[in-house]
Amino acid sequence: DNFEELGLCPQLVQACKDIKFQKPTEIQQQAIPHALKGRDIIGLAQTGSGKTAAFVLPILQFLLETPEPYFACIISPTRELAFQISEQVRALGANILVKCAVLVGGIDMVSQAIALAKKPHIIVATPGRLSDHLENTKGFNLRNLKVLVLDEADKLLNMDFQESLTKILKMIPKNRKTYLYSATMTSSVEKLQRASLINPVKVEV
Ligand code: AMP
Repeated sequence: DNFEELGLCPQLVQACKDIKFQKPTEIQQQAIPHALKGRDIIGLAQTGSGKTAAFVLPILQFLLETPEPYFACIISPTRELAFQISEQVRALGANILVKCAVLVGGIDMVSQAIALAKKPHIIVATPGRLSDHLENTKGFNLRNLKVLVLDEADKLLNMDFQESLTKILKMIPKNRKTYLYSATMTSSVEKLQRASLINPVKVEV
């Protein structure tokens, strides 16, 4: 069990070596091969399982094939988690010139709009601020989005993000890949899954 065997390309295998990932974690072993085949993923995994790299590595591999602006959007329930995810994107994408923008509350909209104008490949965002930009930032839309990640989906639903999430889901293409990660499977997570994923593979650690 190594990163090559999961189907990852040499640049990404090297990036994993560079940041001292010796071998894939359980969730990475289960999720990455399905994700690379183009499947939607529902992942039941806790923080610490390596779930972030399980969704970031496939996104980076797709991005290598088609390096388009606003290619992927990762939605996180908290600012702290959003910044941690963007750090992993930068570390794992170090060899492939990936541009990433973080859109969270508590930071002025204008500086984020300037970051968006540079056409990042990956956006990491909290729901409220993302829907704010979708409504108010000229020239920014997610009509070409290829991959959506809903991270810590149980918390995305707990924290009254429903309204923003519903808006966001209406403003992105149906024809995309979706990865939903959650620590627990609740009835509201199941509802979100039915509304946003197509024939997903379920992975669980
Ligand atoms: P996460 O569950 O995504 O929050 O990851 C928890 C921590 O594990 C992060 O600090 C990652 O950098 C680290 N990590 C993820 N995958 C691996 C791996 N294959 N080998 C060693 N560390 C890893």
